[in-house]
Amino acid sequence: MQQSFVYEAQPARVVFGSATSARLPEEVERLGLQRVLVLCTPQQTSLARRIQSLLGERAVAVFSGATMHTPVDVTERALAVVREQKIDGVVAVGGGSTTGLGKAIALRTDLPQIVLPTTYAGSEMTPILGQTENGLKTTQRSPKVLPEVVIYDVDLTLSLPAAGSATSALNAMAHAVEALYAPDTNPIISLMAEKGIRAIVSALPRVIRKTDDPDARYELLMGAWLCACCLGATTMGLHHKLCHTLGGLFDLPHAETHAIVLPYALAYNAAEVPTAMTHLRRAMNTDNPVQALLQLERQCSIPLALRDVGMPHEGVATAVAQVMANPYRNPRALGQRALSELLERAWSGSGID
Ligand code: NAD
Repeated sequence: MQQSFVYEAQPARVVFGSATSARLPEEVERLGLQRVLVLCTPQQTSLARRIQSLLGERAVAVFSGATMHTPVDVTERALAVVREQKIDGVVAVGGGSTTGLGKAIALRTDLPQIVLPTTYAGSEMTPILGQTENGLKTTQRSPKVLPEVVIYDVDLTLSLPAAGSATSALNAMAHAVEALYAPDTNPIISLMAEKGIRAIVSALPRVIRKTDDPDARYELLMGAWLCACCLGATTMGLHHKLCHTLGGLFDLPHAETHAIVLPYALAYNAAEVPTAMTHLRRAMNTDNPVQALLQLERQCSIPLALRDVGMPHEGVATAVAQVMANPYRNPRALGQRALSELLERAWSGSGID
């Protein structure tokens, strides 16, 4: 008998294409905003200034302090500008760090957000916010943090270097992989996940060869969007929780950690998730998704071992202890020995037999 299921879509208005940043003034007008704050990281200040100039007098300031893991003290500094400048909406231009700051402001003020993503991380499609305070990262879900409008402009991704594009796209792929075996997965999500993964596997090698290939960038961004929808609509398992734990314990870079851990986490779960593996085989056009993923990663010239992104070897035991102390749902039970093996392999980048 066919299973019944629940599918809950996240509300989103999406403008997608090339040169779509030019549509920002219309979107600001549509929301009735008069005093916008543009958010970015220090590295993307000149891009944010260009975005500000598109809006003329309606963009009253740029706050360029966005940083990884959304520290609460940075949010408070941005909130001071919001108050002083009587801001009535935020425009976040950047990756997940900048989107995170916009969401943190929206959580506290209910201000509308327009996001122009420049990476493939996917935060713009989720009602999820991770924040850091006193060294502790906590995550919450709230419809308040979901952006009102997302403008995907393929042109804004052209400057992302090859390695950064690869790790970010693999971060996106991880959302879809885990959505395929999530406890709340459903046939609609599976369609999006399969299509998203297929797009990433097809486009990423072309982007790596030629980072300004507009067609490959278009397909990659479309794939990342679909994968982000999967993240927003389902509950993630071992892979995301492990990356969260590792990031928090050892301050590891977000996208790189996802890229390294993904094949090992998938191998851990593979035997327990036959339907997800069928989708993956089809999406990746391979009999062996785990090996195909490792192969794709080798082509990308990115770090393939946790030791190469700053994780100490003794961290394996610390991370396993933390995971075992806070168990969560995953298709395969979380066993201390099996998790240690997984992390030892991911730490040394030894691959999977
Ligand atoms: P990021 O936003 O930290 O960006 C990494 C670096 O790349 C920054 O220096 C940034 O300025 C630069 N950059 C971004 N786009 C660029 C471009 N097009 N060209 C050149 N440089 C560019 O990295 P990220 O991986 O996008 O985001 C990571 C953060 O997002 C983490 O804090 C993670 O927890 C969060 N995240 C949240 C969710 C969610 O649903 N809440 C989902 C995914 C990621």
